Amino acid sequence: MLYNFKLRYKGITINSDQINKLQAYFGTVSSQSPIPWFDDFVGVAYRYYDLRMNVVPLITDRKQSASLWHDSIHWWVDPSIKIRFVEMENDYWFIMGSDSQKPDTNLAFFKILPKSEHYERFKAGHGGEAYLRLGVYRKKSLSDSKKSDLCTCNHEAQDHDEGDNDVCLFNDCSCKVFSSFQVNLLKRKKTITDIKFLEEKDVKDDPLVWNCFSVNKYSKME
Ligand SMILES: [Zn+2]
Ligand SMILES: [Zn+2]
Repeated sequence: MLYNFKLRYKGITINSDQINKLQAYFGTVSSQSPIPWFDDFVGVAYRYYDLRMNVVPLITDRKQSASLWHDSIHWWVDPSIKIRFVEMENDYWFIMGSDSQKPDTNLAFFKILPKSEHYERFKAGHGGEAYLRLGVYRKKSLSDSKKSDLCTCNHEAQDHDEGDNDVCLFNDCSCKVFSSFQVNLLKRKKTITDIKFLEEKDVKDDPLVWNCFSVNKYSKME
């Protein structure tokens, strides 16, 4: 009922068939309570590694990445893992969920991210399959970096002045602080074979996406 009202506002209506799908989704994954949505990660990297594209949610804390895997992802049933990309104008919603052999500690992931070159490359090149791995993301300061490490301004560490707040030395560059990062891919992996790219008009046809948008977007609209 609540969603019905909110969605009329958005110009989308829900029918009983979709409610059934939503219940089916909750029913298979968790007997009673809905799966919590987890968005406490910094982004998603897309890398070629072991021949397949890898989808790598980036976690800043190594311990947290270990417990996420151990408590939740480890129990995912590979053929049921779904990743969905819902494209907006400049951003996209990354949505990932799965049936679990341990439903009590299951989580579903979502994050709104800017479209990037890597994202577009994944979209064009995944071929229907990917490996899921977690990555530990660490920011690197100028003093941790090698001379040739690239800053987000695309100039090397050695072109930034340690004596002057790490400012970039190129005249036409407005970068004031060197910033770089390192990603360590964790070895454990799962295989994903259910990958879809959608638009917002399609969300009600996909139970996982529908649940994500209902909880994280439509229920928050005034
Ligand atoms: Zn820079
Ligand atoms: Zn620069």
